[in-house]
Amino acid sequence: MSDNLPFQNPDQLYQWHQGIKDANRNNIFCHCRACDYEWMDSAFDVTCIQCSSKDVESISSWQFPDD
Ligand SMILES: [Zn+2]
Repeated sequence: MSDNLPFQNPDQLYQWHQGIKDANRNNIFCHCRACDYEWMDSAFDVTCIQCSSKDVESISSWQFPDD
């Protein structure tokens, strides 16, 4: 898969990764399995802001399959 990336040097790859980090800001879908609350956050290791449960499912929106 990485063969398809249009990067020819590590600098470009680094910038690409930084771009993903920026895109990830408040772009992580969180779902609390305890109270069913859903919200957008910027971190994966989060606690439910509604009921303080740590049983939270986190899905980065750019990880959703396109097809
Ligand atoms: Zn909750």
